[in-house]
Amino acid sequence: MHELAVTESLLQVVLRHARAGGASKVVSVGLRIGEVSDLVDEWVQRYFDHLSRGTIAEGAVIRIERSPAMFRCGACGHSFPADPRTREEIRCALCASEETALVSGREYLVQQIEVI
Ligand SMILES: [Zn+2]
Repeated sequence: MHELAVTESLLQVVLRHARAGGASKVVSVGLRIGEVSDLVDEWVQRYFDHLSRGTIAEGAVIRIERSPAMFRCGACGHSFPADPRTREEIRCALCASEETALVSGREYLVQQIEVI
């Protein structure tokens, strides 16, 4: 049910921006979702369709772009993209330290709203 809460908050952002811009209808919404987020694209669209019923965002097409997960090395401070799902251990691309932490890749945000 995670998608439902996330989609609800995204819809509020979309509606606020659309109203502020004097839009009469939202045609599409571009979302940026971190690669390691557990959000499923299909469910986001499905919940959006459900939640936006009766609003100016009804029928809007959701376009999802995935942003890569970024890690930061605790030893040298280097930031680098890596996929935590396919590797057992994330090592720094520069100094090979194992002291790395995920700094982004779970975020989700509204990147673009197309209105008429
Ligand atoms: Zn390093």
